[in-house]
Amino acid sequence: MMNDFRADMHCHSTCSDGSCTPEELIDLAVEVGLKGLAITDHDSIAAYDLAKSTAEEKGIDLVPGVEFSSHVRGISVHILAYGFPMPNPVLEELCQRHVERRRQRNTLILERLAHLGMPIDWEDLPDDGIIGRPHIGQAMVSKGYVENIKQAFNRFLGDNRPAYAVVLGPDAVETVDIIHEAGGLAVIAHPMLIKKSSVVKELLKLPFDGMECYYARFPAAQERVWHERAEECGWIVSGGSDFHGDVKPHISLGCSWVGQETFEKIKNQGRA
Ligand code: AMP
Ligand code: FE
Ligand code: FE
Ligand code: ZN
Repeated sequence: MMNDFRADMHCHSTCSDGSCTPEELIDLAVEVGLKGLAITDHDSIAAYDLAKSTAEEKGIDLVPGVEFSSHVRGISVHILAYGFPMPNPVLEELCQRHVERRRQRNTLILERLAHLGMPIDWEDLPDDGIIGRPHIGQAMVSKGYVENIKQAFNRFLGDNRPAYAVVLGPDAVETVDIIHEAGGLAVIAHPMLIKKSSVVKELLKLPFDGMECYYARFPAAQERVWHERAEECGWIVSGGSDFHGDVKPHISLGCSWVGQETFEKIKNQGRA
């Protein structure tokens, strides 16, 4: 099916660490000429219901989506889920587990920052939704501890930096299992960001339905390698920008995308 249909399958709203509301994402999708969209907030499925009527009104085909934080033997991996029925109590419960995990993790991070002489109060952070490290980084900027969020990550919040803390949630095996139980498709997010080849090897053995081979602004040659791997597995070849708005200003909505055939597959093949 060769036409100009493009759908961005990966972006974040204010329900997690994006700077646009779900409704603003729909408007932006129209502006950049997209026809389809999946809002994939970290550990939250709330954006779909908030954006649905705007999407219908403005002619954007919106698919339920989410990006779960997960891990393989303690090493962080992100897993996308798509096309699940809404409302979805099974995924709602998994999201709730992550809210609790993040509350524990963020408590540890705030403790470490206080020790480092950079106190942040819970009142400095959003009072609902998914609270992530970018929110803590933003609070550090507002307090004048760092110049920008990038500096906050490089010096303090990034993996293995002095204020970082890990509280593990469900691993990749369990996460894929729950996504399937919930009637969704499970897709490996941005495999090019996984540093350990042993982790990739393990993921390739799991019953995923797809892989995000086209991502953000990665070189086409690299994307092609992932495309070939996904095809070897018989998986859906997906793509998305990982747009976050002001948090990652160099990434624009729609800079990676899928065509109509892939979009329809993802939209319609959710397991019952
Ligand atoms: P969390 O899920 O709370 O652990 O936060 C991870 C999120 O932080 C990622 O999804 C990115 O949006 C953001 N992030 C990770 N590394 C950086 C970085 N170096 N600079 C800015 N944002 C980052
Ligand atoms: Fe993020
Ligand atoms: Fe991610
Ligand atoms: Zn993302």
